[in-house]
Amino acid sequence: MKFESKLPNVGTTIFTVMSQLAADHQAINLGQGFPDFDPDAKLLDHVNQAMRAGHNQYPPMAGIPALRQEVASKIANLYEHHYDPDTEITITSGASEALMASITAFVKAGDEVVVIEPFYDLYIPAIELAGGIPVIVPMQAPTANTPHYQVDWQHVLDAITSATRMLIINFPHNPTGINLQDSDLDWLERIVDQTGVMLLSDEVYEHIVFDGQQHQSLARREKLAARSIVISSFGKTYHTTGWKIGYCCAPKAISAEIRKVHQFMVFTVSSPMQVGLAHFMKDPKPYIELSDFYQTKRDRLSQGLAKTRFKPMPSQGTFFLLADYSEISELPEAEFARWLTTEHGVGVIPVSAFYRVPEAKASNHNLARFCFAKQDHTLDAAIEKLMLV
Ligand code: PMP
Ligand code: GLN
Repeated sequence: MKFESKLPNVGTTIFTVMSQLAADHQAINLGQGFPDFDPDAKLLDHVNQAMRAGHNQYPPMAGIPALRQEVASKIANLYEHHYDPDTEITITSGASEALMASITAFVKAGDEVVVIEPFYDLYIPAIELAGGIPVIVPMQAPTANTPHYQVDWQHVLDAITSATRMLIINFPHNPTGINLQDSDLDWLERIVDQTGVMLLSDEVYEHIVFDGQQHQSLARREKLAARSIVISSFGKTYHTTGWKIGYCCAPKAISAEIRKVHQFMVFTVSSPMQVGLAHFMKDPKPYIELSDFYQTKRDRLSQGLAKTRFKPMPSQGTFFLLADYSEISELPEAEFARWLTTEHGVGVIPVSAFYRVPEAKASNHNLARFCFAKQDHTLDAAIEKLMLV
């Protein structure tokens, strides 16, 4: 049968490709972002008990009320914004579904959506499936003087026109590990004032920020919260990436549109997991302590890499860090990542995969992304191998 693909340029995601390559070569997988350790046993017990207690049928479409209430309380405590759990918080099948439902709900054919590059791989196909047109604003790549990525908000502002439906942002940022600062929220307020654009804020790494910084959720500013969809994921926060549960928060009228899509995309999300998470969330300690937990791992990997020919870059958040391999190779990033995985037994992700045209010269900066959501012995074993590169 003949048909025209709606996503002619999309193949299998780089995360799946690199994980498969690592498995095929028995490489240590520091590529795809997932922990190689178990979630808290208490959380597993809560989910088990929820199943035994009969929470096995369809929960409410927007998520069980107890979990939405816990999310509302957490956001009120951390960011001082009060979302109404009945009408403004929706439990979704991971952040992925929240992103997909939000974009599907609002982007019409011909609408422009501004995306900052490098970007998470889901955004562009989601925009294109909705008939939207991605408008890409590149970050400033690292230089010798500024050894980290930077957003130029003036460029972002300049890219927004009357055709712009939405601006997508993601901080803490995958893959660069940069965070928003208070002054960035000022910029976003200015952008909203001047353009009235809707913001889609992917905050899945909200609880993983380092060196005493605070996560700058868009929920912190009333003006931004009023125009934003704020998305997070329990997968990152509770070491449960395989459960695929997340949530999205937005003012009532916006949430109502997202729920129209959510109810037909998945209708609702696994009930015992939701019940278990609602119990587990009553204790703020696990998410409050997450940054310290991951900072120790970041430092372990970064100090280890400093003993190799890789040059680790600073990471202010997420469970990723970038490292420069200029001293080792001049291969483009995708080829380097494959070579490292197959010849040296350590799987990584090429940063170029987060660019619109991965093979372009402008998308290649001799950088690899390493995931440090791993047990100490995994990180140490990887460093041992990397010392030989
Ligand atoms: N956004 C970003 C930036 C991510 O890194 C991920 C990660 N996996 C997601 C969204 C998707 O999250 P989830 O697994 O909860 O769907
Ligand atoms: N977000 C994860 C990463 O950046 C991967 C998620 C996925 O495999 N789709 O590695």
